[in-house]
Amino acid sequence: SVIKEVLPDFSFNESRILARLSANENPYGPSPKVLEAVTSSLSSGNRYGHADAATLIKMIAEKEGVTPDHIMLGPGSSDLLEKTAFVRFMDGKGNIVSADPAYMSIIHTAESLGANWKPVKLKGDYSHDLSAMEQAVDADTRLVYVCNPNNPTGSITDPVALRAFCSKVSAKSPVFVDEAYLEFLDNPESHTMVGLVSESKDVIVARTFSKIHGMAGMRIGYIVAQPERIQSITNKVRSTMGLCVTSLKGAIASLQDTSFLESCKEKNAACRDFASSELFAMGYEVIPSYTSFMLFPISMEGKSFMKNMYDEGVGIRVFTIEDQPYCRVSVGTMEEMELFVSTIKNLKA
Ligand code: PLP
Repeated sequence: SVIKEVLPDFSFNESRILARLSANENPYGPSPKVLEAVTSSLSSGNRYGHADAATLIKMIAEKEGVTPDHIMLGPGSSDLLEKTAFVRFMDGKGNIVSADPAYMSIIHTAESLGANWKPVKLKGDYSHDLSAMEQAVDADTRLVYVCNPNNPTGSITDPVALRAFCSKVSAKSPVFVDEAYLEFLDNPESHTMVGLVSESKDVIVARTFSKIHGMAGMRIGYIVAQPERIQSITNKVRSTMGLCVTSLKGAIASLQDTSFLESCKEKNAACRDFASSELFAMGYEVIPSYTSFMLFPISMEGKSFMKNMYDEGVGIRVFTIEDQPYCRVSVGTMEEMELFVSTIKNLKA
């Protein structure tokens, strides 16, 4: 892998963090309607949430233009990334093809089961190198993973080219498209690969309530895929037994609160524009971001950069890509981004 996370060699007190910009969380959520739904659901906590799960599945199916048997819920999309990897690599054989850098969850799960990872470097513009990925797919490929928009780069891959790639490659191996940050795009409908599922392609699209919905701690996400693909997962590993009634009721309320989602997206774009133009003015080469986080190279050594930022109460993440250190900063509130900008200004990293 070209990417490595730089881990802190110091301990920090969570309560001293003034701007938590390390986990791509939504600083505005959950919506007041979610809070209301969750609060009133507590008294039914003695009952399993299967009926609520069915309601949520139906709502998602309608939104995505498929029937409910194309949907599987999970406690966060992490759970669905893991379950898909478990089912595909249970016998410890085969390979997984993805970009590098990518979001590593499914790759790490596949590797720990014994799979071989075939990384394909992102192109110079940080989009997926689709022709190289297609060439990397072979008879042993059990899963192709595409994260679009990509984490940790925040970049996107042209949807027309990606659709053609998924359409073709899914004849050889299931293609898992992780769309955790889709809703931050200006025109998400033109970027999603979910339409390929309706065209009967073996494509698995993952979404989460952790980002635009601001429900990261409530753990809920879903995949859209062929019914046989969903069954191949639910028959082997449990499905709705992992879900809380509170999160289900919350997700049902959040899907309906479109004005809240719209306002999160607008605020995210405004705060991202502010921070990226400030960083550009300071000479940082920020990778153009389409998400709720940004990645940019720093000149200071990674661990010292982290220590300096955390000392001022600014939580960020640091990665090295081919030995060059990068800072990944989540987009917080304007106040948090102002603190981030002034802290980094004083550092000259
Ligand atoms: N996929 C991507 C690309 C992510 O960045 C994240 C979390 O940061 C996840 C999946 C997992 O999110 P969750 O399990 O909260 O849905």
